[in-house]
Amino acid sequence: MKDAIVIGAGIAGIASAIRLAVKGYRVTVYEVNAYPGGKLSEILEDGYRFDAGPSLFTMPQYVDELFQLTGKNPGSYGFEYKRLDVLCNYFYPDGTRIKAWSQPEKFAAEIAAKTTDSAESVSKFLAKSRRIYCVTNHVFLEKSLHRLKTYLSVHTLKSVLRIAEIDSMRSMNQANESLFKDEKTIQLFNRYATYNGSNPYKAPATLNVIPHLEYHYGAYFPLDGMNSITSSLIKLAEDCGVKFLYNSPVNEIVVKSRAVEGVRVHNDFHSASIVVSNMDVWFTYKKLLPKIKAPTRTLNQERSSSALIFYWGINSEFPKLDLHNIFFSANYKAEFETIWGHKTIYSDPTVYLNISSKYKQDDAPPGCENWFVMINVPSNQGQNWDELIATAKQNILRKLSLALNTELGPLIQTESILDPRTIESRTSSYQGALYGTSSNSRFAAFLRHPNFLRGIKGLYFAGGSVHPGGGIPLALLSAKIVGDMVSSAD
Ligand code: FAD
Repeated sequence: MKDAIVIGAGIAGIASAIRLAVKGYRVTVYEVNAYPGGKLSEILEDGYRFDAGPSLFTMPQYVDELFQLTGKNPGSYGFEYKRLDVLCNYFYPDGTRIKAWSQPEKFAAEIAAKTTDSAESVSKFLAKSRRIYCVTNHVFLEKSLHRLKTYLSVHTLKSVLRIAEIDSMRSMNQANESLFKDEKTIQLFNRYATYNGSNPYKAPATLNVIPHLEYHYGAYFPLDGMNSITSSLIKLAEDCGVKFLYNSPVNEIVVKSRAVEGVRVHNDFHSASIVVSNMDVWFTYKKLLPKIKAPTRTLNQERSSSALIFYWGINSEFPKLDLHNIFFSANYKAEFETIWGHKTIYSDPTVYLNISSKYKQDDAPPGCENWFVMINVPSNQGQNWDELIATAKQNILRKLSLALNTELGPLIQTESILDPRTIESRTSSYQGALYGTSSNSRFAAFLRHPNFLRGIKGLYFAGGSVHPGGGIPLALLSAKIVGDMVSSAD
């Protein structure tokens, strides 16, 4: 039996391990932390449970596929989910509230009722979003962009013939301003750029593909919380024979005669013919491959935005809030200029409030709610975070208290904080970026690091910092691409 080693038990590391085990490899995963999941983990505090990172679950079929591959039933591993009727509740500074119904016609009617835009303009937008998905999906997401084979398929040829439809020559905001009249509708759709940590005023309108994923494929809630994606896949991997070793930092990938030989953990050598790095690619080169010439241009791509999150145990209940809630800033453009231009936190930030106890009651004590309060912030470049966080907390509390007509400060029972520094140190994500590199350039898809290293046999990369990008669905697709490459190399 051949040995394979995976560095990191993030979601892409776990998925890669399952795929390699199914192919017959004896797989060991080395994880530096004492727990699995990386960004997709949980925090338990004073009777509250919080999902630490991702809160929005889309494209569950990529998780299901791992169970199907192994012939197992996800339900018996604690992985079940339900489709959401309401994707998000939007609160605007002037008191307007828009419910983003998952059913496109109902959502279009809501936009027509609450803004000066028509239901037809929403349908037109969603049809366009669908077309971008059809052109980009097979080529940009499901295949390596860095192998000749990808460009020799019928799918690719069809996509190339329709390339103008992906709308890459103007920004997302320009496209949205050309279709909608109302600032509220434009702000709502511009927000989708933040789904991969980008700036709607710079990112190509190709990112308008993202709403199609929600309005067509749906958004979901795992019944046992987001962390059940990690915990169920860990059990599945273990049942496939994968061995997870925690508190085990890999400190070198050993390469000889242009092939991987294994890794060093605590300076002990472990041999393998396949090594998959799920560690952020920037740190993989800097820390594990110091003798290999790093692809500087690729590694120096602008990173995605980071986040500041307050996990608050709230001693009250708010019936007008749902699972996903957004409280918009009054000036979205100024907010993004502050984050991306001035690399600091905006004084009136758009606040995302996720409350999983709305759907999973035991996530908070009776009569209480578990609030995950997040704002977009720049990646870590040595800012004075302590000072910025203290100010941001006051601004967020003032904003939410006003919108909810309740003094929130006295209701906070417990508090934990995650910021760009701790995201960087706990998950080895360079600069604390949530999604690897940003998609602010129209060439971003091509400039992401490939899932392999040309000229080094047996070395692969999976995770949000490499092709096809960040977020749970894409991280899972990176593992799928790695699995396919290993098969064709066998
Ligand atoms: P990571 O989760 O980054 O895991 C990498 C693992 O490698 C870590 O466990 C780390 O400890 C380990 N490691 C690193 N170096 C070593 C080493 N030398 N030796 C051993 N182990 C090592 N995505 C969504 O789809 N929906 C969302 O709503 C969403 N919201 C987010 C909110 C936040 C606050 C954050 C932080 C992320 C969010 N994301 C969201 C993005 C998503 O979480 C990530 O894209 C995805 O989880 C990345 O998974 P990964 O496998 O690339 O690696």
